Amino acid sequence: MTNIVLPGSVLAGTAAELVERHRAEPGGDGTCQACGWPAPCPAAQHAGLVLASTPAARSGATGPVAPPLRAAA
Ligand SMILES: [Zn+2]
Repeated sequence: MTNIVLPGSVLAGTAAELVERHRAEPGGDGTCQACGWPAPCPAAQHAGLVLASTPAARSGATGPVAPPLRAAA
């Protein structure tokens, strides 16, 4: 793969957050708990493609990782 997402970048962090949020509800009917589409929903699929292009996320190696994004509430 020629396009690599920089580990720790905003793009990689946002994709990881999207994948975490757009999961099938445990014990549910197989739909995404965030948007209601059948899991894996389009958001999770596209975010997964970004993570697949992120070396640290793909290999599971430790390295610079973006901190979890939190809304300032
Ligand atoms: Zn979703």
